[in-house]
Amino acid sequence: MKEQLTQNTILLDGKVTSAAIKLELATEVATLISQGKRAPHLCAILVGNNGASETYVASKVKNCAEVGFKSSLIRYDLSVSEEELLGKIQEINDDSGIDGLIVQLPLPDHFNVQRITEAISPLKDVDGFHPLNLGRMVQNLPAFLPATPYGILLMIEHYKIETSGKHCVVLGRSNIVGMPMSILLSRNAYPGNCTVTLCHSKTKDLEEILKSADIIIAALGKAEFLRANMVKEGAVVIDVGITRVKSDKTKSGFKIVGDVNFEEVAPHCSYISPVPGGVGLMTIVGLLKNTLTAYHHE
Ligand code: NAP
Repeated sequence: MKEQLTQNTILLDGKVTSAAIKLELATEVATLISQGKRAPHLCAILVGNNGASETYVASKVKNCAEVGFKSSLIRYDLSVSEEELLGKIQEINDDSGIDGLIVQLPLPDHFNVQRITEAISPLKDVDGFHPLNLGRMVQNLPAFLPATPYGILLMIEHYKIETSGKHCVVLGRSNIVGMPMSILLSRNAYPGNCTVTLCHSKTKDLEEILKSADIIIAALGKAEFLRANMVKEGAVVIDVGITRVKSDKTKSGFKIVGDVNFEEVAPHCSYISPVPGGVGLMTIVGLLKNTLTAYHHE
Protein backbone atom coordinates (compact mmCIF):
# COMPACT_ATOMS: atom_id res chain seq x y z
CA MET A 1 0.00 0.00 0.00
CA LYS A 2 1.36 3.43 -0.88
CA GLU A 3 0.75 6.42 1.28
CA GLN A 4 0.55 9.58 -0.76
CA LEU A 5 2.11 12.31 1.38
CA THR A 6 1.67 15.12 -1.14
CA GLN A 7 0.79 15.09 -4.81
CA ASN A 8 4.37 14.09 -5.68
CA THR A 9 5.65 12.40 -2.54
CA ILE A 10 5.06 8.87 -1.26
CA LEU A 11 5.81 8.00 2.35
CA LEU A 12 8.03 4.94 2.83
CA ASP A 13 5.96 3.64 5.69
CA GLY A 14 7.93 1.32 7.94
CA LYS A 15 4.81 0.33 9.86
CA VAL A 16 2.94 -0.85 6.75
CA THR A 17 6.00 -2.51 5.20
CA SER A 18 7.18 -4.27 8.34
CA ALA A 19 3.62 -5.48 9.07
CA ALA A 20 3.36 -7.02 5.58
CA ILE A 21 6.68 -8.85 5.92
CA LYS A 22 5.94 -9.96 9.48
CA LEU A 23 2.67 -11.45 8.30
CA GLU A 24 4.63 -13.57 5.79
CA LEU A 25 7.03 -14.65 8.54
CA ALA A 26 4.19 -15.48 10.94
CA THR A 27 2.50 -17.60 8.26
CA GLU A 28 5.73 -19.52 7.65
CA VAL A 29 6.26 -20.11 11.37
CA ALA A 30 2.64 -21.30 11.79
CA THR A 31 3.27 -23.84 9.00
CA LEU A 32 6.45 -25.07 10.71
CA ILE A 33 4.63 -25.50 14.01
CA SER A 34 1.74 -27.32 12.32
CA GLN A 35 4.34 -29.76 10.95
CA GLY A 36 5.48 -30.48 14.51
CA LYS A 37 8.71 -28.49 14.19
CA ARG A 38 10.05 -26.10 16.79
CA ALA A 39 9.82 -22.31 16.44
CA PRO A 40 12.87 -20.24 15.40
CA HIS A 41 14.68 -18.92 18.47
CA LEU A 42 16.49 -15.57 18.85
CA CYS A 43 18.64 -14.93 21.89
CA ALA A 44 19.67 -11.41 22.96
CA ILE A 45 22.33 -10.47 25.48
CA LEU A 46 22.01 -7.11 27.21
CA VAL A 47 24.73 -5.69 29.44
CA GLY A 48 23.74 -2.87 31.80
CA ASN A 49 20.54 -0.88 31.53
CA ASN A 50 21.15 1.84 28.95
CA GLY A 51 17.70 3.30 28.23
CA ALA A 52 17.91 3.14 24.41
CA SER A 53 19.30 -0.43 24.49
CA GLU A 54 16.50 -1.51 26.83
CA THR A 55 13.95 -0.10 24.35
CA TYR A 56 15.59 -1.77 21.33
CA VAL A 57 15.84 -5.17 23.03
CA ALA A 58 12.26 -4.98 24.33
CA SER A 59 11.09 -4.21 20.82
CA LYS A 60 13.02 -7.16 19.37
CA VAL A 61 11.51 -9.51 21.98
CA LYS A 62 8.01 -8.18 21.25
CA ASN A 63 8.48 -8.58 17.49
CA CYS A 64 9.68 -12.16 17.95
CA ALA A 65 6.45 -12.94 19.81
CA GLU A 66 4.39 -11.28 17.05
CA VAL A 67 5.71 -13.66 14.40
CA GLY A 68 5.73 -16.75 16.63
CA PHE A 69 9.50 -16.90 17.28
CA LYS A 70 10.82 -17.92 20.65
CA SER A 71 13.14 -15.36 22.22
CA SER A 72 15.33 -15.26 25.28
CA LEU A 73 16.92 -12.28 26.92
CA ILE A 74 20.07 -12.77 28.97
CA ARG A 75 20.89 -9.81 31.19
CA TYR A 76 24.16 -8.93 32.86
CA ASP A 77 24.95 -6.01 35.06
CA LEU A 78 27.81 -3.69 34.21
CA SER A 79 30.28 -5.61 36.36
CA VAL A 80 30.23 -8.70 34.11
CA SER A 81 33.69 -9.59 32.81
CA GLU A 82 34.55 -10.06 29.16
CA GLU A 83 35.56 -13.67 29.91
CA GLU A 84 32.17 -14.42 31.42
CA LEU A 85 30.37 -12.92 28.44
CA LEU A 86 32.58 -14.86 26.02
CA GLY A 87 31.79 -18.06 27.96
CA LYS A 88 28.05 -17.44 27.59
CA ILE A 89 28.42 -16.70 23.86
CA GLN A 90 30.24 -20.02 23.42
CA GLU A 91 27.47 -21.81 25.31
CA ILE A 92 24.84 -20.30 23.00
CA ASN A 93 26.94 -21.07 19.91
CA ASP A 94 26.84 -24.73 21.00
CA ASP A 95 23.11 -24.73 21.76
CA SER A 96 21.28 -26.30 18.83
CA GLY A 97 17.96 -24.92 20.13
CA ILE A 98 19.05 -21.31 19.52
CA ASP A 99 19.24 -20.03 15.93
CA GLY A 100 20.31 -16.41 16.27
CA LEU A 101 22.36 -14.47 18.82
CA ILE A 102 22.69 -10.73 19.21
CA VAL A 103 24.72 -8.81 21.75
CA GLN A 104 23.08 -5.42 22.07
CA LEU A 105 25.49 -2.56 21.40
CA PRO A 106 26.91 -0.31 22.71
CA LEU A 107 28.79 -2.36 25.30
CA PRO A 108 30.46 -0.71 28.31
CA ASP A 109 33.98 0.62 27.68
CA HIS A 110 35.83 -2.29 29.33
CA PHE A 111 34.69 -4.64 26.53
CA ASN A 112 36.57 -5.29 23.33
CA VAL A 113 33.60 -5.09 20.96
CA GLN A 114 35.51 -6.66 18.09
CA ARG A 115 36.40 -9.68 20.22
CA ILE A 116 32.76 -10.11 21.26
CA THR A 117 31.52 -9.71 17.66
CA GLU A 118 33.97 -12.32 16.39
CA ALA A 119 33.09 -14.74 19.21
CA ILE A 120 29.52 -15.10 17.91
CA SER A 121 29.25 -18.03 15.53
CA PRO A 122 28.94 -16.65 11.97
CA LEU A 123 26.05 -19.14 11.59
CA LYS A 124 24.13 -17.42 14.40
CA ASP A 125 25.29 -13.85 13.63
CA VAL A 126 21.83 -12.51 12.72
CA ASP A 127 22.96 -8.89 13.20
CA GLY A 128 25.38 -9.54 10.31
CA PHE A 129 28.32 -7.86 12.08
CA HIS A 130 30.80 -10.78 11.99
CA PRO A 131 33.74 -10.16 9.58
CA LEU A 132 32.99 -13.48 7.87
CA ASN A 133 29.46 -12.39 7.01
CA LEU A 134 30.63 -8.93 5.92
CA GLY A 135 33.31 -10.56 3.74
CA ARG A 136 30.79 -12.93 2.19
CA MET A 137 28.43 -10.00 1.56
CA VAL A 138 31.22 -8.11 -0.25
CA GLN A 139 31.78 -11.15 -2.49
CA ASN A 140 28.04 -11.44 -3.12
CA LEU A 141 27.90 -14.86 -1.43
CA PRO A 142 24.99 -15.94 0.77
CA ALA A 143 25.48 -14.16 4.12
CA PHE A 144 23.60 -12.59 6.97
CA LEU A 145 23.29 -8.99 5.83
CA PRO A 146 23.60 -6.32 8.53
CA ALA A 147 20.05 -5.85 9.78
CA THR A 148 19.62 -2.13 9.00
CA PRO A 149 20.89 -2.18 5.40
CA TYR A 150 18.91 -5.41 4.88
CA GLY A 151 15.78 -3.68 6.19
CA ILE A 152 16.37 -0.76 3.81
CA LEU A 153 16.70 -3.16 0.85
CA LEU A 154 13.40 -4.76 1.88
CA MET A 155 11.76 -1.35 2.01
CA ILE A 156 13.06 -0.39 -1.46
CA GLU A 157 11.81 -3.75 -2.76
CA HIS A 158 8.41 -3.37 -1.11
CA TYR A 159 7.83 -0.01 -2.83
CA LYS A 160 9.35 -1.31 -6.10
CA ILE A 161 11.68 1.67 -6.30
CA GLU A 162 13.87 1.61 -9.41
CA THR A 163 17.56 1.55 -8.43
CA SER A 164 19.37 0.44 -11.60
CA GLY A 165 21.62 3.17 -13.02
CA LYS A 166 20.66 5.61 -10.26
CA HIS A 167 23.18 7.75 -8.42
CA CYS A 168 22.95 6.83 -4.75
CA VAL A 169 24.66 8.94 -2.11
CA VAL A 170 25.21 7.25 1.23
CA LEU A 171 25.93 9.64 4.11
CA GLY A 172 28.05 7.88 6.73
CA ARG A 173 30.49 4.96 6.45
CA SER A 174 29.93 2.97 9.65
CA ASN A 175 30.49 -0.79 9.56
CA ILE A 176 26.88 -1.41 10.50
CA VAL A 177 25.03 0.95 8.16
CA GLY A 178 26.80 3.21 5.63
CA MET A 179 29.61 0.97 4.42
CA PRO A 180 27.49 -2.18 3.88
CA MET A 181 24.68 -0.08 2.37
CA SER A 182 27.07 1.34 -0.23
CA ILE A 183 28.25 -2.15 -1.17
CA LEU A 184 24.77 -3.64 -1.34
CA LEU A 185 23.40 -0.89 -3.56
CA SER A 186 26.31 -1.19 -5.96
CA ARG A 187 25.84 -4.98 -6.39
CA ASN A 188 24.65 -6.39 -9.68
CA ALA A 189 21.21 -7.19 -8.26
CA TYR A 190 17.87 -5.69 -7.40
CA PRO A 191 17.88 -3.56 -5.32
CA GLY A 192 21.29 -2.50 -6.58
CA ASN A 193 23.11 -1.55 -9.76
CA CYS A 194 23.41 1.98 -8.41
CA THR A 195 26.41 4.20 -8.92
CA VAL A 196 27.27 4.85 -5.30
CA THR A 197 29.06 7.76 -3.65
CA LEU A 198 29.96 7.07 -0.02
CA CYS A 199 30.34 10.29 1.98
CA HIS A 200 31.79 10.92 5.44
CA SER A 201 33.02 13.75 7.62
CA LYS A 202 36.01 14.48 5.35
CA THR A 203 33.97 14.66 2.13
CA LYS A 204 34.36 17.94 0.24
CA ASP A 205 31.56 19.63 -1.74
CA LEU A 206 28.98 17.50 0.03
CA GLU A 207 26.07 19.72 -1.00
CA GLU A 208 27.00 19.43 -4.69
CA ILE A 209 27.28 15.65 -4.40
CA LEU A 210 23.95 15.39 -2.60
CA LYS A 211 22.22 17.56 -5.20
CA SER A 212 23.21 15.10 -7.91
CA ALA A 213 21.74 12.12 -6.01
CA ASP A 214 18.70 10.17 -7.18
CA ILE A 215 18.72 8.25 -3.89
CA ILE A 216 20.05 9.52 -0.55
CA ILE A 217 20.60 7.23 2.44
CA ALA A 218 21.25 9.45 5.45
CA ALA A 219 23.10 7.59 8.23
CA LEU A 220 25.34 10.09 9.95
CA GLY A 221 23.62 10.59 13.31
CA LYS A 222 23.26 14.38 13.02
CA ALA A 223 19.75 15.59 13.82
CA GLU A 224 17.94 17.03 10.76
CA PHE A 225 21.23 17.49 8.88
CA LEU A 226 19.73 17.10 5.39
CA ARG A 227 17.97 20.27 4.28
CA ALA A 228 15.85 21.05 1.23
CA ASN A 229 18.67 22.91 -0.54
CA MET A 230 20.75 19.68 -0.60
CA VAL A 231 18.14 17.56 -2.38
CA LYS A 232 17.30 17.24 -6.08
CA GLU A 233 13.61 17.39 -7.06
CA GLY A 234 12.19 13.87 -7.16
CA ALA A 235 14.95 12.23 -5.11
CA VAL A 236 14.32 9.18 -2.92
CA VAL A 237 15.38 9.95 0.67
CA ILE A 238 15.84 7.22 3.28
CA ASP A 239 16.51 8.40 6.81
CA VAL A 240 18.41 6.06 9.13
CA GLY A 241 19.27 8.57 11.88
CA ILE A 242 17.93 8.31 15.40
CA THR A 243 18.71 11.23 17.70
CA ARG A 244 16.92 12.16 20.90
CA VAL A 245 16.41 15.91 21.12
CA LYS A 246 14.66 18.15 23.63
CA SER A 247 11.06 19.00 22.84
CA ASP A 248 8.51 21.10 24.65
CA LYS A 249 5.74 19.31 22.74
CA THR A 250 6.09 15.89 24.37
CA LYS A 251 5.36 14.72 27.92
CA SER A 252 8.85 13.30 28.34
CA GLY A 253 10.46 16.54 27.18
CA PHE A 254 12.25 14.65 24.37
CA LYS A 255 11.49 13.45 20.87
CA ILE A 256 13.25 11.26 18.32
CA VAL A 257 14.37 12.87 15.07
CA GLY A 258 16.21 11.57 12.05
CA ASP A 259 19.08 12.90 9.95
CA VAL A 260 16.62 14.57 7.58
CA ASN A 261 14.66 17.76 8.12
CA PHE A 262 11.49 15.96 7.10
CA GLU A 263 9.11 18.93 6.78
CA GLU A 264 11.52 20.81 4.55
CA VAL A 265 12.76 17.90 2.44
CA ALA A 266 9.58 15.82 1.96
CA PRO A 267 7.86 18.08 -0.61
CA HIS A 268 10.89 17.70 -2.91
CA CYS A 269 11.05 13.89 -2.80
CA SER A 270 9.42 11.13 -4.80
CA TYR A 271 9.70 8.87 -1.74
CA ILE A 272 10.80 9.63 1.82
CA SER A 273 10.98 7.58 5.02
CA PRO A 274 9.94 9.12 8.33
CA VAL A 275 11.59 8.93 11.76
CA PRO A 276 10.16 7.34 13.77
CA GLY A 277 8.09 4.84 11.76
CA GLY A 278 10.61 4.17 9.00
CA VAL A 279 13.97 2.36 8.92
CA GLY A 280 13.95 1.44 12.63
CA LEU A 281 11.01 -0.91 12.12
CA MET A 282 12.64 -2.37 9.01
CA THR A 283 15.84 -3.14 10.95
CA ILE A 284 13.87 -5.47 13.19
CA VAL A 285 12.37 -7.16 10.14
CA GLY A 286 15.92 -7.67 8.78
CA LEU A 287 16.84 -9.30 12.07
CA LEU A 288 13.76 -11.57 12.05
CA LYS A 289 14.42 -12.65 8.45
CA ASN A 290 18.04 -13.44 9.28
CA THR A 291 16.87 -15.52 12.26
CA LEU A 292 14.55 -17.55 10.07
CA THR A 293 17.40 -18.11 7.60
CA ALA A 294 19.63 -19.27 10.47
CA TYR A 295 16.88 -21.68 11.55
CA HIS A 296 16.70 -23.20 8.07
CA HIS A 297 20.52 -23.64 8.02
CA GLU A 298 20.26 -26.26 10.77
P1 NAP B 1 28.41 6.27 13.27
O1 NAP B 1 29.16 5.01 13.52
O2 NAP B 1 28.35 7.31 14.34
O3 NAP B 1 28.99 6.92 11.95
C1 NAP B 1 28.56 8.17 11.49
C2 NAP B 1 29.10 8.38 10.11
O4 NAP B 1 28.66 9.66 9.66
C3 NAP B 1 30.64 8.40 10.07
O5 NAP B 1 31.07 7.70 8.93
C4 NAP B 1 30.97 9.89 9.95
O6 NAP B 1 32.14 10.14 9.19
C5 NAP B 1 29.76 10.40 9.16
N1 NAP B 1 29.55 11.82 9.41
C6 NAP B 1 29.47 12.45 10.60
N2 NAP B 1 29.27 13.77 10.40
C7 NAP B 1 29.23 13.97 9.07
C8 NAP B 1 29.06 15.11 8.25
N3 NAP B 1 28.89 16.33 8.78
N4 NAP B 1 29.07 14.95 6.91
C9 NAP B 1 29.24 13.72 6.37
N5 NAP B 1 29.40 12.60 7.09
C10 NAP B 1 29.40 12.73 8.43
O7 NAP B 1 26.92 6.02 12.84
P2 NAP B 1 25.97 4.74 12.67
O8 NAP B 1 26.19 3.77 13.77
O9 NAP B 1 25.99 4.29 11.26
O10 NAP B 1 24.58 5.48 12.93
C11 NAP B 1 24.16 6.60 12.17
C12 NAP B 1 22.78 7.03 12.68
O11 NAP B 1 21.87 5.98 12.40
C13 NAP B 1 22.69 7.26 14.18
O12 NAP B 1 21.75 8.29 14.42
C14 NAP B 1 22.17 5.95 14.71
O13 NAP B 1 21.47 6.10 15.94
C15 NAP B 1 21.25 5.54 13.61
N6 NAP B 1 20.99 4.11 13.47
C16 NAP B 1 19.70 3.77 13.24
C17 NAP B 1 19.40 2.44 13.04
C18 NAP B 1 17.98 2.08 12.77
O14 NAP B 1 17.60 0.92 12.90
N7 NAP B 1 17.15 3.03 12.34
C19 NAP B 1 20.38 1.46 13.07
C20 NAP B 1 21.71 1.85 13.30
C21 NAP B 1 22.00 3.20 13.47
P3 NAP B 1 33.63 9.67 9.68
O15 NAP B 1 33.68 8.22 9.36
O16 NAP B 1 34.53 10.49 8.85
O17 NAP B 1 33.68 9.96 11.15
